[in-house]
Amino acid sequence: MSGNLYVVSGPSGAGKGTLLAQALKGRDDVWLSVSATTRSAREGEQNGREYYFLTPEEFQRLIAEDGLLEWAFVHGNYYGTLKDEVLKRRAEGSDIILEIEPQGAFQVQAKHPEALLIFIEPPSLGELEERLRKRGSETDEQIAARLRHAELEMALRDRYTVVIVNDDLETAAQALKTVFEGSMRGGSMRL
Ligand code: ADP
Ligand code: 5GP
Repeated sequence: MSGNLYVVSGPSGAGKGTLLAQALKGRDDVWLSVSATTRSAREGEQNGREYYFLTPEEFQRLIAEDGLLEWAFVHGNYYGTLKDEVLKRRAEGSDIILEIEPQGAFQVQAKHPEALLIFIEPPSLGELEERLRKRGSETDEQIAARLRHAELEMALRDRYTVVIVNDDLETAAQALKTVFEGSMRGGSMRL
């Protein structure tokens, strides 16, 4: 039986990576998709682990070959989901999680209406800025751009089936875990 398809979005710095790591501990039946991107690797990131880091030419070729399930141009770079890998793992029965921004999320929903869309919301824009500054992986200019972009993303959260506010980390991680365990299906909900 093919696995469930989950899409997780939310502003940069909202805590998607942190929550996914917590919620997926011990779940080896769930596969977190590795996207392709043209942005450069951050310190500690490895090609093939966090992302496949591609040149713009390589990315364009993937688009031309219809090799992407969805893609978007954000923060000056291309990001996309490799179609073959996702479809193969899903056919093998793994649940699949795509951590992607909203334009991509809605492309996936159009192709796979059964996908469950989950939005991770920061408690406030002020707290989001604080988290981005503390993470220290972007310049001030990049942080400002991400905060502007965050407001646009937040305006789309009502189109997601599940919205999780990442205030207390443990509570939010538990909520996400419960969603992935499949015990929260049907209807939209805010947790
Ligand atoms: P994203 O993947 O959405 O860009 P991260 O998971 O990198 O976000 O989280 C951004 C920063 O906020 C990280 O430094 C992380 O440790 C911190 N963080 C995540 N969740 C919380 C939380 N609930 N409370 C406080 N800090 C958090
Ligand atoms: P970052 O550069 O911080 O890793 O990611 C920037 C944004 O790109 C995040 O909102 C992230 O969810 C999104 N993103 C990462 N991979 C993909 C992808 O494959 N497709 C789309 N559409 N967005 C992605």
